[in-house]
Amino acid sequence: ETLDKGLEKSKTTFFSKLSKAVAGKSKVDDEVLDNLEEVLVSSDVGVSTTLKIIDRIEERVARDKYMGTDELNAILREEIGALLSETQSGEATDFSLAADKKPYVIMVVGVNGVGKTTTIGKLAHQFKNQGMKVVLGAADTFRAAAIDQLQIWADRVSVPLIKQKMGSDPASVAFDTLSAAVSQGADVVLIDTAGRLHNKVNLMNELGKVKRVMQKVVGDAPHEVLLVLDGSTGQNAFEQAKQFTKATDVTSLAVTKLDGTAKGGVVIGISDQFRIPVKYIGVGEGIEDLQVFNKYEFVDSFFK
Ligand code: GDP
Repeated sequence: ETLDKGLEKSKTTFFSKLSKAVAGKSKVDDEVLDNLEEVLVSSDVGVSTTLKIIDRIEERVARDKYMGTDELNAILREEIGALLSETQSGEATDFSLAADKKPYVIMVVGVNGVGKTTTIGKLAHQFKNQGMKVVLGAADTFRAAAIDQLQIWADRVSVPLIKQKMGSDPASVAFDTLSAAVSQGADVVLIDTAGRLHNKVNLMNELGKVKRVMQKVVGDAPHEVLLVLDGSTGQNAFEQAKQFTKATDVTSLAVTKLDGTAKGGVVIGISDQFRIPVKYIGVGEGIEDLQVFNKYEFVDSFFK
């Protein structure tokens, strides 16, 4: 239900554009395909993913000789579902994590303002609800506000936050956090990191060092590198994904603020282009407004 609400803007806009794109046409022809291309690109699906979708539909039109515009919905739904399946192998429906890693360490990366702190807070809440013992680490030591904001979430969710003063070594905070998590028998650790993109080499070095130091405590940490992207920023989100995937091994994505945008297509484009699964989506500012991304639910709620 929250998903339906969260995607409402994207869905309404998409279908009103789509109906304009096929207006007065009964058959999918080159003109309809051109219009569809525009609709997808303007929904932030991204150019390369859009072309992939158009190619697949063209192939079907060529094979079946005729495709009515009334079938276009169903066919788009199928093709987008198939595309998502290439990167979304799992069918996660809840917030559970690999049980054989304890603590399961998630390093959270992303630039400031995308909703990183909020996503960490919401995740901490969900994990705790699943009966997991959660520890947070404030390894974004660059901004005092980042530490304070995370503290507010830690208090709200009632989970411990390991922090040092502003300007301290992020790797040292990460070390302390994992040490505390191990001694407390925690199930999951969420480590916030600084997201300064203006200096890529610095970012790469810093994230690399945080990782190496974490491995002194938990040999195979981090088990997940979660990149948080603001879904309402379109091409910026693509650009950030490009930069972060160059700086570190991103293993999963959280796309936030889908409730505030009419361009939910960004979810499809980003996971396709970077071959990284979208694991979570943010659909509001509240503590419950984070969802495990499920390709079936997404496609269903979008095309319903
Ligand atoms: P950070 O700088 O990346 O840590 O960003 P914050 O977590 O502080 O979030 C920045 C702003 O975005 C805050 O006002 C959040 O409430 C808001 N925000 C985060 N996630 C979502 C979301 O999914 N939907 C909406 N509408 N707002 C969000």
